[in-house]
Amino acid sequence: MSARILVVDDVTVNVRLLEAKLASEYFNVLTAFNGEKAIEMAKAERPDLVLLDVMMPGMDGFEVCKRLKADPATAEIPVVMVTALSDVSDRVKGLESGADDFLTKPVNDVALFARVRSLVRLKRMIEEWRLREEVSGRFENVLGQGEKQEEDSTPARVVVWEQSDFAAQRITEMLTPMVQDVVRVKSPDELGASFSQPADLVILSLAGSFDALRLVGQLRSAEASRFAPVLLIAAEEEMARLAKGLDLGANDYILRPIDKNELIARARTQIRRKRLQDRLQENYQKSLALALTDSLTGLYNRRYFTAHLEGLMTRIAEGAQGAAVLMLDVDFFKKVNDTYGHAAGDVVLREVATRLARNVRGFDLVARYGGEEFVVVMPETTLPIATMVAERLRAAIAEKPIALGEVGREIPVTISIGIAVTQERGDTATAALSRADEALYEAKRAGRNRAINWEPQMQAMAKVAN
Ligand code: GH3
Ligand code: MG
Ligand code: MG
Repeated sequence: MSARILVVDDVTVNVRLLEAKLASEYFNVLTAFNGEKAIEMAKAERPDLVLLDVMMPGMDGFEVCKRLKADPATAEIPVVMVTALSDVSDRVKGLESGADDFLTKPVNDVALFARVRSLVRLKRMIEEWRLREEVSGRFENVLGQGEKQEEDSTPARVVVWEQSDFAAQRITEMLTPMVQDVVRVKSPDELGASFSQPADLVILSLAGSFDALRLVGQLRSAEASRFAPVLLIAAEEEMARLAKGLDLGANDYILRPIDKNELIARARTQIRRKRLQDRLQENYQKSLALALTDSLTGLYNRRYFTAHLEGLMTRIAEGAQGAAVLMLDVDFFKKVNDTYGHAAGDVVLREVATRLARNVRGFDLVARYGGEEFVVVMPETTLPIATMVAERLRAAIAEKPIALGEVGREIPVTISIGIAVTQERGDTATAALSRADEALYEAKRAGRNRAINWEPQMQAMAKVAN
C-alpha cells in the first residue's frame, strides 16, 4: 500500500508543488491550508506522515506539531517541518516541539524523498510491532505508553565513526552533556567490536577516504547492530550519497558544519525511537512467553510441554538417558468447585501448582496439562527415582490442607499420580504420555491419593474401561 502524506501550508502554490512532487513518486497526498484543519485531518485520516509548514497565520507549525504529538490518536504520525528559514534555531525549535524532521524551502527532492521514505518505513515498523502486540492480546499494556512514556533514563551509549581526530573530538564534546558513553571507532572491525555492548546510536561521518556507506550495510546485517539507529554526517554537496545511505537503511542525517543543538536534538530523537522499539520488542518477547505459559498457575502450558517432551524423546532416541513422565490429577476436584465455587477451585489449582514446582529439581519441567491435570517430566530419571519423587509430590499436596484465602477456610486436597519411564526402543512422546495416563487411571481406581507405576497389563484394562 502506498503511503499517505498530509501536506500543510497556507500558500496554495507550495501545497500544489509538494503535492505534484509526491504524487509523481506514487504517494497519496492529502492537503490542508491551516493548522486547525491539519489537526482535524490528521485525526480523521491517520496519514503516514505530515509535511508541516512552520510559518502560517493563526496557529503556526510548532503549535500544530505540539498538539499532534500531545494527542495519543496522532502522536505516532511522523511530522516533518517545512521552513523557509534556514535558521538553525528554527530547526531546533521544530525538533523540540516534537517534529521528527525538517526540510527547508525550496524543498530539495533528494532530501524530501529520502526523509519521507525513511520516516514512513519507521512508522510501518512500529505499526508492525503494535500489530503483533495486538494479536498476542497484549495491546493494552503497550497502548498509551508508546513514545509518551516517561523517558528511559538509562544513560545512552553512542558509537562514532569519524576519520578525523579533530572532528571526532568535537562530536564527542557536543554529545557529552546528554550521552554517557561515546565510543570512537576507526575501522570496520572496531565498529563491529563496539557492539559487544548494545549501542543506542551510531553516528557515521561520510568524510574521509573510506566509503562509510558500506558500513551501513554491515551494521544492518549484523545481529547485534541490526536495529541500531544510524545518523549520517555529510557535506551539503554529498546529497546523492546521503540519499543512498538513507536507502541502505540509515535513519537520519545532519549536514556540516555541525550545529551542536541540531546534533543533540537529532541524536535524542533517534535514541528515543530506539528505546521505543526496544520496549516494544521486549513486550513482544514477554507475550511470546505468555503464549507458552498458563495464565492461572504460571506453569508452562500444554503446548510448550508437548514440544519439550518431543525434543526430549528425540534426544533419548539419539542416546541420552531415559526420562520419567508423571501425570497428576486432583482428586474429586469437581466437588471443590461445586462446594466452594470456581474461584476457590482456582486458588486450589494455583496452590497445587506452587507445591509441585517447589518439589522438583530445577531441570524437571512442571506443566499444566489442562483443567486440574498436571504433568512433570524428569530427564535422566529411572523408575525408582521417579517413584520417590511422585511420592514426595503426593505428600506435598496431601499433608497440608489448602487455605482458600477467605476467612480461615482450609480444605484437604489430594492428587493421584501415574508414573511412566521412557522405553529403550521406539518410544514416543504420545506413547509415554498415554502410559502415564493409564497408570493414573489405575491410581484413581485403586482409591486415589496415591502414585502408581505403569505396568503392561494396564493398557488392556484402560481399553476395557474406555
Ligand atoms: P477425579 O477424582 O476422578 O479426578 O474427579 P474430579 O472431580 O477431579 O474430575 P473431573 O474431571 O470430573 O472434574 C474436573 C473438574 O475441574 C471439572 C472442571 O469444571 C474443573 N476445572 C477445569 N479447569 C478448571 C479451572 O481452571 N478452574 C476451576 N476452578 N475448575 C476447573
Ligand atoms: Mg480430577
Ligand atoms: Mg480430570
